[in-house]
Amino acid sequence: MSEAFRGLRLTNTLTRTKEDFVPIDPQNVRMYVCGPTVYDFAHIGNARPAIVFDVLFRLLRHLYGEDHVTYVRNLTDLDDKINARALRDFPDLPLNEAIRRVTEKTANQYQSDVAALGCLEPTVEPRATEFVQPRPDGRADMITLILSLIDRGHAYEAQGEVLFDTGSMPDYGQLSKRNLDEQQAGARVEVEAHKKNPGDFVLWKASSAEEPGWDSPWGRGRPGWHIECSAMASAYLGEVFDIHGGGLDLIFPHHENEIAQSRCAHGTEVMANYWMHNGFLQVEGQKMSKSLGNFFSIHELLETENFGGRKWPGEVLRLAMLMTHYREPIDFSVRKLEEAENTLRKWKRAADSAGAAEAAVPASLIAALSDDLATATAFHGLSQLAGESGGIAAAELKAALLFLGFTLDAAEVDGAEVAKVIAERLAFIAQKNWAEADRIRDELLAQGVQLKDGKDPVSGERVTTWEVKR
Ligand SMILES: [Zn+2]
Repeated sequence: MSEAFRGLRLTNTLTRTKEDFVPIDPQNVRMYVCGPTVYDFAHIGNARPAIVFDVLFRLLRHLYGEDHVTYVRNLTDLDDKINARALRDFPDLPLNEAIRRVTEKTANQYQSDVAALGCLEPTVEPRATEFVQPRPDGRADMITLILSLIDRGHAYEAQGEVLFDTGSMPDYGQLSKRNLDEQQAGARVEVEAHKKNPGDFVLWKASSAEEPGWDSPWGRGRPGWHIECSAMASAYLGEVFDIHGGGLDLIFPHHENEIAQSRCAHGTEVMANYWMHNGFLQVEGQKMSKSLGNFFSIHELLETENFGGRKWPGEVLRLAMLMTHYREPIDFSVRKLEEAENTLRKWKRAADSAGAAEAAVPASLIAALSDDLATATAFHGLSQLAGESGGIAAAELKAALLFLGFTLDAAEVDGAEVAKVIAERLAFIAQKNWAEADRIRDELLAQGVQLKDGKDPVSGERVTTWEVKR
């Protein structure tokens, strides 16, 4: 490691500061990230945590060894939205079968989407429905967790529900810095009659005959959302683990309540030592919403021409997502994707000149990423390597690209776009505007596209052909 490397530092939402990362057990560094609810195609906002925490996963594997990191990312296959989708799409099937169809299809789609984005598979990808009832393998489950919360005086039964008693936890609200008294004073709605405190949340609720349900000590019902992650995290990572991640929008109530459940059920001081959150994502300067018509799924960007009139390679989406620091809001736009595509093309062309030469992942890249995933600094370093001549720089660049989850495949050139630009250039030539014509030629060359001017042997007219320069 180079002198620049000062160890891994991560911004911890719990303390709102950048801290040195010290794993509980360097032989098994443990990370949990909240995965998607699988009722529909994952949107590009869902792609951000998948990509960001994949980079962290790769970095941890580099620092601690591939076999010394456990990364759990769950699939929420249990949700009222899923029920609604199942009833809509498969009205003639029994509900459980209909739900299985919806979640299997959506989960498979999600896995192929994130694979196309260059993400490694997590070590474990548990599904919530498999952790509701006590398991034959003895791993943590939701019902047992709820029972222990009741035993310890942190949960109570009321009107067919089991609720977490926020009043039983003096320091509830540490992650979101919400204070219970403030919440109560500010509460606009009357406390529902069966709740002891306005912030009390559902651990278990009764299911009607039309809803999916599991037998439990409280009758047939289903778990609340938050308890899923408490169960799956402790099933694979233990009562206290290193890193818990997710989007900023999950801090409250989801992560706050995960912490409350896990700490109170296990009697621990913390659930995870480091809480990391990625920022929001906008599309072309606006909040993504179905009503604004700027709501895009990952699948749509990869496979249709709905965004910017063309398909986008997964690794272009990946680079575009990482050009903004993970904690900052990101404005996802066609321009950003074009910029990412051009950058990637330059890097790949430079890396290609390494031939078969091999080099280690550059220490400067590891140092930059270790500073709270400073991807912009890391990419600046890659562009410098791309600008240097010589086999070592090219080989280092090659190693860096592979490390970051990019391929070495030649970046595709959009033939229709090149044809359009060539036509524009021919129009400039006809006007004898040589400066503009040359500018276009040079811009294309920077993208690896070489133009050849010639004459049509029959008509004698000027024709321009092109080829990709490797
Ligand atoms: Zn979660």
